[in-house]
Amino acid sequence: MTQLALTFDDGPDPVWTPRVLERLAAADVHATFFVLGERVQREPAQLEAILAAGHSVGLHGDRHLDHSTADDDVLRRDTDVALSVLARHGVTPSTWRLPWGRRGPITDALAEQHRLHVVPWDLDTHDWRGDGWADQPADTAHRVARGGIVLLHDAVGPGATRAGCVNTLELVDAIISTARDAGVRIGPVDEPRGFHG
Ligand SMILES: [Zn+2]
Repeated sequence: MTQLALTFDDGPDPVWTPRVLERLAAADVHATFFVLGERVQREPAQLEAILAAGHSVGLHGDRHLDHSTADDDVLRRDTDVALSVLARHGVTPSTWRLPWGRRGPITDALAEQHRLHVVPWDLDTHDWRGDGWADQPADTAHRVARGGIVLLHDAVGPGATRAGCVNTLELVDAIISTARDAGVRIGPVDEPRGFHG
C-alpha cells in the first residue's frame, strides 16, 4: 500500500507544536518530529506531549548547524548534546533529519556511530516561507497520492521567512485529506524508506 509520512522539523515550539498535535489528533494521524535539543531544553513539556500522543521523534540537531560548513568537533559535540537531551526524556532516536538537508564530511560517520538513519524528503512544502496549499505546485496532489516523505515545520526555525505556522496547519489538513482521498496510508517514518503505521 502506498504510504505517506508527515515530518516536522525545528520544534518543539510552545505555540505551534500543540496546534500541530491537535490537527494530527483530530485526523487520527501519527507523524515524525525531528527536534532540536536546544528547543527541547526550553520546551520539555512539548516533547512530552509529542511522545504522549504516540508520535515518532527523530534527531534534527542541538543547534541548527550546517554540516557542510561546521567544524567536525563542533558537530560531534552538537550531536552528543542533542542525544543526551533526548535520552533524559527516554528517547533514543533512530532517524536524523539534517539541518538544511545538508551533509558534511563527518555526517555519515556520526550517523553510523549513533545508529541514526538520515531521512531525506520527497516533497518540500516550503512552509517555512509561508506557502499554503494554494501555493503548492499543480502536481502536488498527484505527488501526495504517490506517497513518500513530506517536509513541514512546527516552529519558525532559522532562515524561516514567516511570523508563525498557520500555513503549516492548513497544509497538514489539506495533505491528510488529499492522501486519504487517494487511499494513501499515513504514518511516521522510522528509516529512510521504512514506515510503520
Ligand atoms: Zn531545520
